[in-house]
Amino acid sequence: MFLNHQSSIINHQSSIINHQSSIINHQSSIINLIVGENRHVFAFAPSSLNFNFGQAYNSLGIVESTEKKKTYISTPYWSVKNNLFVMMSQPVYNGKDNYLGMISGTIYLQRKNLLNTMLNTQYDYKKSYMYVIDQHNRIIFHPDKNRIGEKIINNTGLDFINQHKNGSIRLKNSLGIDNLAGFAHIPSVNWIVVSQQPTEDLLAQANTLISKVSIGIFIFYFFIFLLIWYISSFISSPLNRLARMASMLNHADIENKIKEVDPWYFEVLKFRTSLLMSSETFSHRIAELKHHVNTDPLTGLYNRRGMQLFLNELLETRTEFTVLAIDIDFFKKINDQYGHDQGDVVLKTLAQLMLTNFREQDICCRSGGEEFLVLMTTADASVAYKAAERLRKTMQETTINQMGQITISVGIAFWPQDAEDVAAVLKIADNKLYEAKHSGRNCIRSTVQSSA
Ligand code: GH3
Ligand code: MG
Ligand code: MG
Repeated sequence: MFLNHQSSIINHQSSIINHQSSIINHQSSIINLIVGENRHVFAFAPSSLNFNFGQAYNSLGIVESTEKKKTYISTPYWSVKNNLFVMMSQPVYNGKDNYLGMISGTIYLQRKNLLNTMLNTQYDYKKSYMYVIDQHNRIIFHPDKNRIGEKIINNTGLDFINQHKNGSIRLKNSLGIDNLAGFAHIPSVNWIVVSQQPTEDLLAQANTLISKVSIGIFIFYFFIFLLIWYISSFISSPLNRLARMASMLNHADIENKIKEVDPWYFEVLKFRTSLLMSSETFSHRIAELKHHVNTDPLTGLYNRRGMQLFLNELLETRTEFTVLAIDIDFFKKINDQYGHDQGDVVLKTLAQLMLTNFREQDICCRSGGEEFLVLMTTADASVAYKAAERLRKTMQETTINQMGQITISVGIAFWPQDAEDVAAVLKIADNKLYEAKHSGRNCIRSTVQSSA
């Protein structure tokens, strides 16, 4: 009666198992069994297997499972037909806690099964691979099928893996190859999944990666450097140009060059403005200096040096000119009679008369002491004579501080008519002056006789 009841339950369950087994896998990777407590097989799948219902089976899985009478996972074991199995079983109890048998699933470890479907990575993918070992270090899964069922002995990391259950380690595998491994424990079955990759290959990858990253970083920083260099030179270039110009303020067209610098930011604008101001002051000072160097402080007329500049220009442009050599008559007497200071007043007065008497383009100079020179840009002897005569007459008619009549004598020579050499022309003018002195003073003598 009990057996009938039991068999009806098991029959019912066997139909479920048959149904499930067909869903899970039509192939022969899993064997589903329903076994009674006396180890008789009540139902099995796939149907291609030949189980004898009247026989008690004593395979390791069936024996241990029915003895333990609870959830059970076997260690890998070899069947009589030399297949490597792992059995997982669940006990069946009736409502009164009587053990009726068990339902099991048995996996062929060396055939295509759920384990290797889940864990099989492409074996040669960067040479990394996974394997699973049980609590006795027996290989349950390995990409190399021939090693399934083998007990690992030569793996240097095995003790560490068993001790720590989860973690990572550098080890030498059973072939003596240095590997980096990560491992994780599956508590329900007490298995350990190990994923490992040869250190050399991993480092090769890392080195390739490092080189690629380094090249990338180098290129990146190179472009950043170029960009910074470009921007900084863009910013500093106007300042550089202005700084260079700061030491060239004496150059002729420096102001225009300073104005060419684009003052696109505040500092440049300030620097540019102050440089322009300095340049203006500088050129002002230079002009002042030139003026001082080339003029006579007492009369304000050009000195010999100033006169030489104009002479050079006239010669360069081959402009014809007339030289008037002027000397105050009996000047020594004036000094003696009225004093040196009054003598100076006479010199200054004559200078003023000269400036008003001659045109702007004529150059009036004090060539020394109480001697004066005028360079008239004319080749017309009568024009020069008339101008000299006008000055002589004005001087004669001008009374200076009640010093009585003061007169001048004038000698005139022409360039290039009298001589090609300027010094010679000056000398000739001087000779003519000497002639005027000897002719009684207060008169004019010229190399060209003009009507008085
Ligand atoms: P002459 O008619 O022959 O020219 O007679 P002179 O007395 O003018 O003779 P000379 O030209 O040789 O005299 C030049 C004098 O001019 C000598 C000197 O005392 C005077 N002298 C020269 N330079 C200056 C000056 O800067 N100031 C004053 N007050 N006198 C000067
Ligand atoms: Mg003299
Ligand atoms: Mg004199």
